[in-house]
Amino acid sequence: MSLLNDRLDALRGPAPAKGHDARTLAALTTNPGCARRALMDAAGVDKDAIAVHLGKPRPLAKSSIALRNGAVFEQKVKADGGAELLRLLRDVLGLPLHEAAHTDLAAVGSQDASLPVRHAYTRTAVLEAARSPRSVRTLLDHPILQLTVAGHPVYLEPDVVAFQVDGVFHIIEIKSFAVLDGRADPAKVAAAVTQAAAYVIALRELFESEGLDGDNVSHDIILITPRNFSRNPTASIVDARKKIAALTRQLNRLTRIGPLLDALPPHTTFDLALDRGERPTRDAKDLTAALQTAPARYTPTCRHFCDLAYVCRSEARDEGLIDVLGSDIRDDLGGVDHISTALRLADDTRRPAPDQVDLAAALRHAHAVRTHLRESA
Ligand code: SF4
Repeated sequence: MSLLNDRLDALRGPAPAKGHDARTLAALTTNPGCARRALMDAAGVDKDAIAVHLGKPRPLAKSSIALRNGAVFEQKVKADGGAELLRLLRDVLGLPLHEAAHTDLAAVGSQDASLPVRHAYTRTAVLEAARSPRSVRTLLDHPILQLTVAGHPVYLEPDVVAFQVDGVFHIIEIKSFAVLDGRADPAKVAAAVTQAAAYVIALRELFESEGLDGDNVSHDIILITPRNFSRNPTASIVDARKKIAALTRQLNRLTRIGPLLDALPPHTTFDLALDRGERPTRDAKDLTAALQTAPARYTPTCRHFCDLAYVCRSEARDEGLIDVLGSDIRDDLGGVDHISTALRLADDTRRPAPDQVDLAAALRHAHAVRTHLRESA
């Protein structure tokens, strides 16, 4: 592992490794075929700093208004010692009234430096509760969990861990997107559940490291969201088994990063060569060439989760890759990698390969319909 760490350190350069959070871990499941991101995440490369240096930063994923709304909603749900939260949990989990204790670890400190301390408190509280089934503690607020990623421990901060409902622990995720008539934006629900899946895996890792049964951490996530257009919260249970399995596979893949490293040219590095003022001095063309030795797999969804999205999109556009048109079109045009190839098959200026005959006929038909509509408009 130390040789592997040395190689990852060389890939990153002397800058400190950038840690994961639940959002970056969740992103691993969204484009698992991307070797570029797998390598950079395993090495702890600061992808945002690279995108900024190359002049293609990703715009802020969330507006400040959305962030503020999210914080206000979370405060409302947790106010008065979690009174509203407990009411919701009694409904969805059937908590009896006497199980209503609430422990807030924010009192330990909320700065980054306090993460190891809050993690130690969380660990003690969780293990005490797991070993004392009669414990009355029900909710742990602002806990810090730890997960091993590519051999490195990273800290994660779930919204809440609900303790001991019939001996089973639950992760609670509080999100401010609305549920209208019982339905929410599927993409937002999927992102929230994937994030919560990282917490489930971390909590199971803690249990198993202490010889406890990881299955005592439920695969059901409790999602708390506003109901309709109000700020009144509602709770729903979401089965996260598929997300947990997908994220576990990706985490295992990160520890098998060796073959991806082997495929890079010797001495490849994404080092930004920071000067004493922490300003990058790496030649942009040289850095771009280094990036291009790690195969990317751009899809338009990258813009939602990866800091390198605008770098990779520009590269894919320059190369005329079908990928920039989205995964549906990429799947429909399976076997055709470039837009120019598809266009030439469509206007019959390129002879199709034997396995492209049907596809070429469909493209020619689409081209003829489009030409007819344009001429008759
Ligand atoms: S933006 Fe680039 S590095 Fe990130 S997942 Fe997409 S293709 Fe991979």
